[in-house]
Amino acid sequence: MKVEKPRGTRDFAPDEMWARTLVERKMSCAIENYGYRRVSVPTFERSELFRLKSGEEIAQHMYVFEDKGGRELCLRPEATASVCRMFAEELRAYQKPVKVYYSGPMFRYEEPQKGRYREFWQIGVELIGPSGPESDAEVIEVAARSLKSMGLKFELEVGHLGILRGLMQDLKVKEEVQDDVISAIDRGQKDKAEKLVKDKVFFDLVELKGDKKIIKKAEKILKDYENASKALGEFKGILSYLDALEVDYSINLGIARGLEYYTGMVFEIRVEGLGAQNQICGGGRYDNLVELFSGLSVPAVGFAFGFDRVVEAVKEQGIEIPKKKIDLVVAPVSDEVREEAMKIASRFRGNCSVEVDLMNRKLGKILEYASRINARYTIIVGPKELEKGLVVLRDMKSGTQKEIGLNEIERIF
Ligand code: AMP
Repeated sequence: MKVEKPRGTRDFAPDEMWARTLVERKMSCAIENYGYRRVSVPTFERSELFRLKSGEEIAQHMYVFEDKGGRELCLRPEATASVCRMFAEELRAYQKPVKVYYSGPMFRYEEPQKGRYREFWQIGVELIGPSGPESDAEVIEVAARSLKSMGLKFELEVGHLGILRGLMQDLKVKEEVQDDVISAIDRGQKDKAEKLVKDKVFFDLVELKGDKKIIKKAEKILKDYENASKALGEFKGILSYLDALEVDYSINLGIARGLEYYTGMVFEIRVEGLGAQNQICGGGRYDNLVELFSGLSVPAVGFAFGFDRVVEAVKEQGIEIPKKKIDLVVAPVSDEVREEAMKIASRFRGNCSVEVDLMNRKLGKILEYASRINARYTIIVGPKELEKGLVVLRDMKSGTQKEIGLNEIERIF
C-alpha cells in the first residue's frame, strides 16, 4: 500500500537536512551572541491562545482538532503567543530583559506553492521587558546580523503601526475597526480600508515609502495629529539607533503585518529570487500581548524568520554550503581482521566521526565509498601490518598513504 505524505509537508533527505542544520546553527549562533537563550514550546496548544490576538489571517488557517477530552486544540501556527503564555507561567520570574529564541515547525492550512507550505519552520526571537527605541533597534540588528552571517543579500523595510494606529485614534476610528483596517492594508485591500477610514490623510501616510527623507514628509502630514506625531517621534528614535549600528534599511509606513498584536515598530525582510514568497522575516513590537496572558503590563518586541525560505535564498544566491565530511573510514582487507577493524573504529569514535565497512566490500570499493562520502582518511586494516601493530593511513584527498601505529593516529584526531 502506498501512503503519500500530506499536501504541503516535506521529507528532508540527509543532504538537505545537513544544509538546513548548518544554516540553523549559523543563525542560532548569531542570535545567541546577542544573549538570547533557546526555549521550546508545545507543537499543539489550546486554540484560543491564537484566536485571542494572532489575527483573522492566522485564525482562518489553523489546524484545529478536538482531543479525546473534548478540548479544542490546534497545531501551532506561530509561536509568539506561546512564548507570551510561557512568560505568564514561568518566565516572569526571570531577570529582565527576558531574551529567548525558538526554532521549530509551524502549521498553517494554506494553499501550498513555492515557498509556502502547510508545515514550515520558523526561527523566532522575542525580547520581553524593555520598551525603549534601542531595544527595537537591537532586535532588527539581530535579524540583519543573522542573515549577514551567512553572506545573504536582503532588503529590510521598517514601518511603525503605532503611527497608523495613533492617526486612526486622532481621526476617531474605533479600536475594533482599527484591526480590520490594518488587516485590509496588510492584504493589499485598499478599497476595503477606504470604506473604514474616510480621511485621505491616512492613505497619504500609508503610501509613504523611501529613505529617511520621507520622515520630513510624514512630519508635515501629521503636524496636527497628536498621537500619530508622538509615535513618529518614537520611530525617529529607532531609526537613529539603526543608523548608529549601520543597519541598512528603507522606510515603508504602509507595512501593516497580518498579526493583530503589533503595536509599534514593524519590519519585514525580503530577498530576490524567491518569486512571490520572498518575505523571509517579519516582526515588530507587541506591547499588549504579554498583558493579555499574564495581566502584567510588560512590553515586548520580536520577529520570526521563515526558515525554509532562508535556506532557499542561501541556495538561490549561490552561497556554498560545505558538504558533510566524515573523518575516518576503517577498511578491513579481509574477514579475519573485521573484528579488529570494528574495535579500531570504536576506539576513535569518542573524538571524531568514523565509519567502518558494514557491506563486506572489497578494499577498492571501500575506498570508492570513502571518497563518495567525503571521508578525510581511510584506515586500511591488514593482517600483516596488524601483526606489527600498524595500519595503513590513506589521505583521501591526496591519495598518499603510509604505515602508522594506532597510537600515532590518536594524536592526529
Ligand atoms: P508571520 O508569522 O506570518 O509573521 O511569518 C513570519 C515568516 O514566516 C514569513 O516572513 C515567512 O517567511 C514565513 N512563513 C509564513 N507562512 C509560511 C508558510 N506557509 N510557508 C513557509 N513560510 C512561511
